[in-house]
Amino acid sequence: MHRTETHICELSFCAKPCEFTTICHKHVDELQDELTEFSTDEKLRLFAIARGEEKPADQTPRSGSKGQAVDVLSLPTWTLAMNIHHHWPHAMPYLAQEPKAAKHYWIISNGIQEARQKINGLYPDHQDPEYQDAILQVRYPRKAGDLIEHMWDHYRIRISHSQLRKWTQRGKLQPIEVEGSNHHLYNPKQVLELM
Ligand SMILES: [Zn+2]
Repeated sequence: MHRTETHICELSFCAKPCEFTTICHKHVDELQDELTEFSTDEKLRLFAIARGEEKPADQTPRSGSKGQAVDVLSLPTWTLAMNIHHHWPHAMPYLAQEPKAAKHYWIISNGIQEARQKINGLYPDHQDPEYQDAILQVRYPRKAGDLIEHMWDHYRIRISHSQLRKWTQRGKLQPIEVEGSNHHLYNPKQVLELM
């Protein structure tokens, strides 16, 4: 980073001057609002899903009986529920100035979407074609040029060939080996995780 340049917001869809923090406060405020929108009932439902007492996305009619409870804890869902309920709201006051604020922004933002989907059933049982397609797209290996276009079209994230090369040289990004291809291939998920 050049010291003479004004620091810009490290969220690439924003990239506006942002001198005193890593990312603008307004992005944190937006996350905070989304976290506040989870009602107590919704959070309890998420914990219940994690405990296997309720199925995500209303796959089955709810009988209200506890006799069906399955004694399986989904650790990722439990962690997500704890994050939504406790850890992330408490992290908000410090997020904007954290060195890794941009990365954490995406983790929290994705976590909120995931929790919403589990609670509200936007994608019942994950068989929804749109959801399946999204999962496929985000993991699909692409050549550098395709990836750069895709990141802009789908995420409004601008990356360049030289940025990709730098990440690869520094070992931050591992090209995906695909049999029969001698191109360097990457998928969008890898890039999102670097943001
Ligand atoms: Zn910003």
